[in-house]
Amino acid sequence: MKAFTYHSPTNEQAAVRLLGAGAVPLAGGSSLLNLLKERVLEPERVVNLKAIPGLAGIEAAGEGLRIGANVTLAALLENAEVRRAYPALVQAAETVGTPQIRNVATVGGNLCAPPACWYYTHEGFPCPRKGADHACPAKAGENEYHAIFATDGPCVAVHASSLAPALVALGARLRVVGPGGAREVEVEKFFRLPRAGEHRENVLAADEIVTHVTLGPARPRSATYAVLHKESHDWPVGLASVSLQMDGDTARAARVCLGAVAPVPWRAPGAEAAFPPVRPPPERGGWGFTTAGMGRLKSTVGPSPAFTTNFMLPPCSLRVSCSSWILVAKSSASRTLRSRTDRTTYCSARPMAWSGPSPTPTRMAPSFTSE
Ligand SMILES: Cc1cc2nc3c(=O)[nH]c(=O)nc-3n(C[C@H](O)[C@H](O)[C@H](O)COP(=O)(O)OP(=O)(O)OC[C@H]3O[C@@H](n4cnc5c(N)ncnc54)[C@H](O)[C@@H]3O)c2cc1C
Ligand code: SF4
Repeated sequence: MKAFTYHSPTNEQAAVRLLGAGAVPLAGGSSLLNLLKERVLEPERVVNLKAIPGLAGIEAAGEGLRIGANVTLAALLENAEVRRAYPALVQAAETVGTPQIRNVATVGGNLCAPPACWYYTHEGFPCPRKGADHACPAKAGENEYHAIFATDGPCVAVHASSLAPALVALGARLRVVGPGGAREVEVEKFFRLPRAGEHRENVLAADEIVTHVTLGPARPRSATYAVLHKESHDWPVGLASVSLQMDGDTARAARVCLGAVAPVPWRAPGAEAAFPPVRPPPERGGWGFTTAGMGRLKSTVGPSPAFTTNFMLPPCSLRVSCSSWILVAKSSASRTLRSRTDRTTYCSARPMAWSGPSPTPTRMAPSFTSE
């Protein structure tokens, strides 16, 4: 690790004065320390944000909630109001790493986390994202966990944050502070696709930090489903968050956002448009009927062209055809298969069509079940 000076400012403005070229903010350190140790990042200054008061609380804000950037994922999961009002966020946070990681990992650090790419986090591989004048090694290399959308840019790493798709689906906003003061950014507009010569994953300037996440009115009919190889200590292969806009007991619209499929959280407007106004079937007792798997989603994607998927959105269950879920499940299978058989063309392959009717499968997709 290269030597750096360590700073621990106690207010936002002092922090942004210390940031800028040659400096990085530090929160829980669960991502950043690895990059420092691997010499992927070699800053002159590391600016600890955890000593700034006011960034570690969860408080009411209008009809919603304001979550400080320094709130740990463990604290987020323990908050009764977050659990009641935003299950999609809770289910996303539950998938992150392990209890030890969630004890230190923060909401702000998660949103600003570096790309999930094994070439990026290894000091031995120069790549465009690290500013090297070198082709992306993932494009011709091991890329089964890389992007399947927006693959025409210089970098095909998927965005690493599991919370981001949930926050996009929930329509959350960020408070960002820089030398000129504070500004608000929709989470959906916070991330940006890789472009030649630019290495940032989001719209933050080098001397700006995220201080808070603001959530609007409660969205209890929301959920996140992640496909993981392991139950814990793993990154999602694919992830989808859904939030329903309710009108009484009728779901009028849905916001759907996918994770781990593109360099940014990937909104799925085709899936949203396919979502009809839905009322619960009266014979099932309305929205109140629940199933054993409440709180999680069960997705079974089989060879049937119908591709129906069970959404279990507590405390309701909807059966809908949703191409986004097909995508998640299919991609986790086909990415592995394709990358094994045809690595060199995989990343330049066109994204799968998913906004129209359910596609006919070209190969048998596996079943993913999660309770
Ligand atoms: C085994 C393992 C499994 C993991 N699995 C997952 C997973 O499934 N899903 C997932 O999302 N993550 C996962 N992670 C990654 C990581 O733990 C999370 O992204 C974590 O939330 C990062 O938060 P942090 O507070 O530790 O951030 P840090 O490591 O301190 O910082 C991360 C980045 O954000 C910047 N940063 C931090 N705070 C701010 C701020 N307020 N404003 C601006 N920039 C800031 C830092 O400069 C750094 O670039 C995993 C990590 C490990 C080690
Ligand atoms: S996918 Fe992005 S981060 Fe990974 S090696 Fe290629 S340019 Fe670097």
